Amino acid sequence: MADLPTRTLQASDDATAEAARALRNGGLVAFPTETVYGLGADAANPKAVARLYAAKGRPSFNPLIAHVDGLPAAGRLAVFSAEALALAQAFWPGPLTLVLPKAPGCPVCDLATAGLDSVALRLPAHPVAEAILRAFGGAVVAPSANRSGHVSPTQAAHVAEDLSGRIDLIVDGGPVRIGVESTIVGCLGAPVLLRPGGVPRAAIERVLGRPLGESPSAAGHAADAPLAPGMLASHYAPAARVRLEAREVGPGEALLAFGPQTLPGADQASAVRNLSPRGDLVEAAANLFGMVRELDGIGAKSITVMPVPRHDLGEAINDLLARAAAPRGLKPD
Ligand code: AMP
Ligand code: MG
Repeated sequence: MADLPTRTLQASDDATAEAARALRNGGLVAFPTETVYGLGADAANPKAVARLYAAKGRPSFNPLIAHVDGLPAAGRLAVFSAEALALAQAFWPGPLTLVLPKAPGCPVCDLATAGLDSVALRLPAHPVAEAILRAFGGAVVAPSANRSGHVSPTQAAHVAEDLSGRIDLIVDGGPVRIGVESTIVGCLGAPVLLRPGGVPRAAIERVLGRPLGESPSAAGHAADAPLAPGMLASHYAPAARVRLEAREVGPGEALLAFGPQTLPGADQASAVRNLSPRGDLVEAAANLFGMVRELDGIGAKSITVMPVPRHDLGEAINDLLARAAAPRGLKPD
């Protein structure tokens, strides 16, 4: 990917303003939270989220946590049950992530939630993170600021070692305190513990006045239960049949193209979208969910997908397409 001139700024009002501007422009900004350094991108901007996946080198599109600056902002993104609200009031700001149903019109893009109807929200308890979120004003997805498979960074220097040249800005707020991930609680029905982390289970159960449910993977999973991390990205599936690595288009098929070439039979396609006419994988990732949804919405029986190269972001794109193409019976749902 392009070699960016990554800048590091000491935390300050100027750095906050610079970070907010970069986020608004679709840039990638690393900043401290109380758990680890996060790599932030505008959650509403699929191009920015695609760049984030490319910078981290993630092999698949896992749903990301959206960070907000307060409960009012959270309430515009997601639907809070009484128990979810009680948890937010007790532990925010802090290392607790709540998985909630998306609110109607929730601006968090499909690429950020891996196409799910739920969204994971958190309000970090770090003055630098809070200042950046407030100045930016929208939701910021912020997985740990390291390359995929590397250790989560607890200092700005760790971020620079791992991501220099791949991101726009690092805001240095000194070493972070906790160094463990946030606790994730699913609040799609009765609250369940999806991942242990910085807020202990017992503290959560004291607020709820009852035990937390187990994540479905631990408890044997029911079809309507919220899904555990790791099972999530496989959940999104279009109604249409998806045919991969297509070399020709059949009559009436919808075509999801990639790159400047065309396929034999393309003129017979019922609809055509091109993930990236110039063959750019970041652009393709940014367009992926929107275009699959459009072709699915047209009611095509089958969506034919041209080969997408497997290098860089192509690995995650092909992973998502393979899940979308898996025969219904094999889908883990
Ligand atoms: P982190 O690695 O701290 O950025 O956290 C990301 C985790 O949040 C992943 O393990 C995801 O599975 C989980 N997560 C994000 N969004 C959702 C969601 N909508 N439903 C369930 N888990 C989610
Ligand atoms: Mg990590």
